[in-house]
Amino acid sequence: MSRALFDLTGRLALVTGSSQGIGYALARGLAEAGAVVVLNGRDPTKLVAAQARLAEVGIASETAAFDVTDPKAVEAGIAAIEAAHGPLHILVANAGIMRRMPSVEMPPETWREVLATNLDGVWYCCQAAGKRMVARGKGKIVTICSVQSELGRPTIAPYAASKGALRMLTRTLCAEWARHGVNVNGVAPGYYDTELTGALVNNAEFTDWLCKRVPAGRWGKVEELVGATVFLAAPASDFVHGHLLYVDGGMTAVV
Ligand code: NDP
Repeated sequence: MSRALFDLTGRLALVTGSSQGIGYALARGLAEAGAVVVLNGRDPTKLVAAQARLAEVGIASETAAFDVTDPKAVEAGIAAIEAAHGPLHILVANAGIMRRMPSVEMPPETWREVLATNLDGVWYCCQAAGKRMVARGKGKIVTICSVQSELGRPTIAPYAASKGALRMLTRTLCAEWARHGVNVNGVAPGYYDTELTGALVNNAEFTDWLCKRVPAGRWGKVEELVGATVFLAAPASDFVHGHLLYVDGGMTAVV
């Protein structure tokens, strides 16, 4: 019984931004739980490389290259996935970018670039996948939020604004879609060593600050986000709606 609660066999899952980093780890984790996974990103070469990495560990996967900032491409991409592989059961809206700059220096295009990817992109993907799930009365959506959905930090104004907005998008979609059998929840990572945070992991001063600030005393490992995501994609979470699950070593639990 408990094994069935986390079994994703026969489910089709799209993970946006899964050619590397957190998205790749989540795609692998969902596949290991039984799902058929579709990898996404803008760069087809990176997608083919990610697919090959999964194949090396015995995981077959599909790819769908599209830019989440383009609503027409998102709609066409999700329509093509369903035409080729059947109904989409799980969307992990993960694709996101970070730009660091003091707010007094930030040009409008940087602000727009981050919001376009981290907020508009998630919205387009949730809407395109969600309308199909609502029509079928079944689906699981996991938005990848952040500790910055909760906490302010200097130099990342558009990033934190986008992640704070994702928290409310997650709750609002829950308010609309829970009664239609669609679970919309979020996973909120703390700090993980990926390309997005690359400059920081080599910054001894920042790592020293982080390890003191985080109760667990360390950076997260991307694999540590899999359990929360599989839970929110699996039957185990059927009555969990509009929740943000922080996987942050306790960072948001303490001041
Ligand atoms: P990475 O930079 O390592 O990976 C980002 C992925 O997103 C790549 O596969 C990239 O591929 C894809 N991507 C970027 N823009 C787009 C786009 N417009 N359309 C489609 N795909 C896109 O980032 P992480 O793995 O670190 O981050 C993943 C998510 O986790 C983000 O939402 C981030 O905000 C969140 N997060 C990360 C944390 C961390 O500590 N790393 C902490 C908290 C949250 P390509 O360039 O080919 O498009």
